[in-house]
Amino acid sequence: MQKTVHIIGAGISGLAAAVRLANAGCRLCLHEATQQAGGRCRSYFDAATNLTIDNGNHLLLSGNRHAVAYARSIGAEAGLVGPKQAQFPFVDLSTGQRWLLDLGDGRLPLWVLDEGRRVPDTSLRDYLALMPLIWARKRKLVGDAIRCDGTLYDRLVQPLLLAALNVDPPEGSAGLAGAVVRETLLAGGQACRPLIARDGLSAVLVEPAIRLLQAKGASIAFGHELRELAMTGERVYGLEFAADDVIPIGSEDAVIMAVPARPAAALLPNLKTPTKFRAIVNAHFRFDPPRDMPPIIGVVGGLVEWLFAFPQRLSVTISNGDRLVDLPREELAEAIWRDICKAAGVGGELPLWQIVRERRATFEATPEQNALRPGAVTQLKNLFLAGDWTDTGLPATIEGSVRSGNKAADLILAMR
Ligand SMILES: Cc1cc2nc3c(=O)[nH]c(=O)nc-3n(C[C@H](O)[C@H](O)[C@H](O)COP(=O)(O)OP(=O)(O)OC[C@H]3O[C@@H](n4cnc5c(N)ncnc54)[C@H](O)[C@@H]3O)c2cc1C
Repeated sequence: MQKTVHIIGAGISGLAAAVRLANAGCRLCLHEATQQAGGRCRSYFDAATNLTIDNGNHLLLSGNRHAVAYARSIGAEAGLVGPKQAQFPFVDLSTGQRWLLDLGDGRLPLWVLDEGRRVPDTSLRDYLALMPLIWARKRKLVGDAIRCDGTLYDRLVQPLLLAALNVDPPEGSAGLAGAVVRETLLAGGQACRPLIARDGLSAVLVEPAIRLLQAKGASIAFGHELRELAMTGERVYGLEFAADDVIPIGSEDAVIMAVPARPAAALLPNLKTPTKFRAIVNAHFRFDPPRDMPPIIGVVGGLVEWLFAFPQRLSVTISNGDRLVDLPREELAEAIWRDICKAAGVGGELPLWQIVRERRATFEATPEQNALRPGAVTQLKNLFLAGDWTDTGLPATIEGSVRSGNKAADLILAMR
């Protein structure tokens, strides 16, 4: 009989694994605890703004090649949109200064040689001083690899690494930061074009995958939370969802656990996982963006870090947001709206708004927590792990999630 692969968790890592296995002709069962696929990367209808919004603004770069290939494999690549050039308008709210970071469209970071395209008031020497980051060891701190001060740091390195690592950059893993820099900034403008799921994360990255899986005959069970793995020392032989809902796992079957770190640790005793997490705060305002507003603006010198323009909506992201999770929501909305007015050059009363605070948005990308990430292989020969918190070599990102799902799927295909 053809073996069945059970995938626990229908976030991006579980979906990426499922798509790869379905395309290879495997029989699949997906089990998702909630009523919706997508996990930390999803859209929902928000009554406060009367809009369908994403749980968080997600930015991909064209250099996120596995994520882009995943979108292509589900027929959704065209839904990832962005400017043709790797150009990032920035504003410093403390001084009012504005500049355009223009990374060009080459395969090499030659823009650093052109004073007109560099961050204002920076020299080539400032960029060369970042070299130690490129091949830094995972155990090293960013703050020990490079100087975390000065104009280039404040205007480019800090915003980029804060967004990628979701920790204050000096305390972050230099190895993870280096991986991001190698795959984006160092790979030239061609790898740095911003890509946004214009019609929403679910419409672009989730629903097309579900449709493809259903068309290929996969069974997808929502509201189906795995409570316990029945296992011997060698392999999983059952999945317990409830006392009267236990699925036997045959000797040819395999399981991918694509759940976040905390449920994974609860389901698999002795599994080493990251134990510390950081919040990301997103705020959404129902407001028609000015016609000429760029899709994304980098903001420094304020509370807001990135400002996104969507149809009928202005949205912001604030990383490393633990300091904001207990602040009164109205106060936070007012403060963010003030920043938006300055950054976007708009005005007026506070529009309809929503604030989404994801407390455990990502694992803490410090050397200490990075060292706790397990690989895809477990001690059980038919159980594999996927998720942004597994040892992908990248911080917690869509790109890392897709890679982890692909890896788990490839290990299963190699067992055939
Ligand atoms: C606010 C926010 C902003 C972000 N911004 C970006 C960005 O700009 N760029 C970027 O690349 N990344 C970003 N990320 C990170 C990105 O969203 C994640 O890396 C990615 O979505 C994680 O996918 P995953 O499959 O690893 O995990 P998850 O999305 O957590 O999926 C795990 C799934 O498992 C399910 N589950 C849990 N327990 C069980 C169980 N027992 N049984 C069955 N199912 C279970 C969950 O319900 C969930 O659906 C952001 C994240 C957040 C929260």
